[in-house]
Amino acid sequence: MSLLADYEALVGSSTIAELRALAGRLAGKQVLMISSTRAGGGVAEILNRMAPLFQELGLDVRWDVMEGGLSFFKVTKKFHNALHGQRAAIRQEMFELFLQVGRANMHKMALDREIIFVHDPQPITLVEARGRHPASRWIWRCHIDLSRPKQRVWEFLRPFILKFDAAVYSHPAFVQQMPMRQVLVAPSIDPLSDKNRELPMEEIRAVLARLEIPQDLPIVTQVSRFDRLKDPIGVIEAYRKVRRTVKCRLVLAGGPATDDPEGEAVLSEVREAAGNDPLIRLLMLPPNSDVEINALQRASAVVVQKSLREGFGLTVSEALWKARPVVASAVGGIPLQVKHRYSGLLVHSVEGAAFAIKQLLNNPSYAKHLGENGKEHVRGHFLLTRHLADYLLTFISLDYTTDTIVLN
Ligand code: UDP
Repeated sequence: MSLLADYEALVGSSTIAELRALAGRLAGKQVLMISSTRAGGGVAEILNRMAPLFQELGLDVRWDVMEGGLSFFKVTKKFHNALHGQRAAIRQEMFELFLQVGRANMHKMALDREIIFVHDPQPITLVEARGRHPASRWIWRCHIDLSRPKQRVWEFLRPFILKFDAAVYSHPAFVQQMPMRQVLVAPSIDPLSDKNRELPMEEIRAVLARLEIPQDLPIVTQVSRFDRLKDPIGVIEAYRKVRRTVKCRLVLAGGPATDDPEGEAVLSEVREAAGNDPLIRLLMLPPNSDVEINALQRASAVVVQKSLREGFGLTVSEALWKARPVVASAVGGIPLQVKHRYSGLLVHSVEGAAFAIKQLLNNPSYAKHLGENGKEHVRGHFLLTRHLADYLLTFISLDYTTDTIVLN
């Protein structure tokens, strides 16, 4: 049974033929993807969907995750925030723990594979082992907005990054001055996953009933881990301004990720900010709540992504693919997805978000127009098939020392 054939109807047969042609040059290529969690957050979302398609294309792709423990992930979350340009108190022993956990993982992973594809900073120090297997090629995939990193963390990580053969970023503004090959690859969503596939209206209604969300008023939703950089409290403030003139419900849906230890603390801050407003629904969804998230996004009159920093924000493409009107902050990779007043509304503040949400709730035909444009924009740029092609090209390019890539 072909998984890829199912994508033809959505992206056309030439896209699938291109993937097969590129993959023909990489038959049997051994790739090890390494990330820091199997569930929760955008990286896990993508790798879960991508790995079986690589296999079908004939590459020998495996995916392994760092074993870290709570104290390691507390440190890496601080690194994450600092790389996004946020202040983070980092002590010397945190750097040491980071190195120590990297060394402990080196012996557990198959670092002798032909391509080692490291996602984000958590597993970055594994590159120290590359001397043991000189034939392997190493790629660092950065999903973070690196445009304004705090220097202490960046300077600590940079010598490791310099040991890679290539670095991959989501947006041109994130690219750092470095001598190795630098590649731009935007993330993507899988249109056939449970999170994004079409859902019948009865199923959407049933999910909302199960989640105890009445469908009497328009629903405004943000789906995100409970993370301060996603600004859930800013979303509540914007909703309160909207509510002065327009009746609506607010849903904030989030879930845990093993590499994000701050979720519980942020959720309690959000609970406090929400108070006892009966029109606000906070949901802590278990992992794999894909159909629930799909239904929530489809049932929303407006989907919000009010991030303060964002590498890409898969939730934006997820909503656009469902032709939902989106109000999102003009940060990081979001403007790649939302072209202001074409495929959504970009905002810069709580006031701006409130104004944009009101505008869309009051003008459903404009909202519908933005959502429809958004869907086509995602079809053209942010579906998994384009992402696979970009990675196949990146793998092929590792065999060339110049920028010339020779195709069939
Ligand atoms: N997500 C989820 N459950 C949740 C919250 C988020 O499955 O409770 C998913 C969301 O649908 C998206 C991914 O996690 O696919 C988040 O990716 P994004 O790039 O938006 O943000 P990240 O968490 O990687 O910062």
